[in-house]
Amino acid sequence: MIEKSEIDEALRRYDSRKITVATLCSHSALQIFFGAKQEGFRTIGICKPETKKAYDSFPLGKPEEYLIVKSYDEILSDAFQEELLKRNAVIIPHGSFVEYVGAKNLEKKFFVPMFGNRKVLDWEGDRDKEMFWLKKAGIPLPKTFESPEDIDRLCVIKFHGAKGGKGFFLAESGEEFEEKMEEARKKFPEAELSKHFIQEYILGVRYYPHYFYSPILNRIELFSIDRRDESNIDGLHRIGATKDEIQSFGSYVVTGNLPVVVRESLLPKLFDIGGRVVKASLDLFAPGMIGPFCVESVCRDDLEFITFEVSARIVAGTNLYPLGSQYSCYLFEEPMSTGRRISREINLAIKDKRLADVIF
Ligand code: ATP
Repeated sequence: MIEKSEIDEALRRYDSRKITVATLCSHSALQIFFGAKQEGFRTIGICKPETKKAYDSFPLGKPEEYLIVKSYDEILSDAFQEELLKRNAVIIPHGSFVEYVGAKNLEKKFFVPMFGNRKVLDWEGDRDKEMFWLKKAGIPLPKTFESPEDIDRLCVIKFHGAKGGKGFFLAESGEEFEEKMEEARKKFPEAELSKHFIQEYILGVRYYPHYFYSPILNRIELFSIDRRDESNIDGLHRIGATKDEIQSFGSYVVTGNLPVVVRESLLPKLFDIGGRVVKASLDLFAPGMIGPFCVESVCRDDLEFITFEVSARIVAGTNLYPLGSQYSCYLFEEPMSTGRRISREINLAIKDKRLADVIF
């Protein structure tokens, strides 16, 4: 386990005037680099050779320096991490970074300072712990079923780890669960299916609000909201699919994101949810959720938001708003993306000599 004292020691050796912002070239990296440059930081992109050209195509979004890796395993080598330390690097973890390097590896072997509390990786990566956190927050959640025999309503069956909905299926009964699980076993390796999670399917409209919790300004900001395009559940209606067909062919692979806003009268509910998630995180794994996070929820026709997942880091849905959003314009005078907001927090922390409060 990488101890916080080790990170603090690395931070003490850093020259705070020469901090560089680093991340993996994927997911929300353009926004992170663009925002860091707007905030006056140098940027480093950890990149596979075949990916560099795409980033070079965006002069304002590309990093100033690339560290090229042939395989993501190299990121964990001591030599690679030393290169990052030499550059006073602060890593911004995004979904692909966590997925490719591995949450457990980041906790145990990655000694480069990262923005945000690394304890959160374990809480969001394990669906049981994640649900414990959300229960503690006291917000409305879908019912979960321990055993397939208990299924008494439409449920979505999920597998562990953030895989963008891969392999999920719907079932309304124990028998339907067994049939579909059999099909899933043919398609996916057993290892991926071993830990499943049965959750009530919530009927309504999906809203994924993006928040930012700032320990420096001591406030929760509602930054933006998106909804995901998912294939092929979002296309099935175009062929007039029946409920049976939707249950058989619906899949939840994320392919893109759409911008959305909620009725203004619903904003207090979103603030309540965000506040409770942060409060519970402080109780469970102090200093809790720091920086960007997203609460994935479905709004029912009784105007209740039911939360089915929390992403405890920058989400790709924020890529819709590189110049700010319908909400961030009421928070900051200048165009403020979530990527830029992260760098702003680092800047505020440097000014207050509180870098160790946001970097772990
Ligand atoms: P990621 O980690 O990338 O967010 P994931 O693999 O953890 O993805 P979820 O976000 O839990 O998957 O779910 C994927 C999609 O399945 C959601 O975007 C949503 O469309 C649908 N979904 C998940 N849970 C529910 C639910 N309880 N009710 C209705 N739809 C749901």
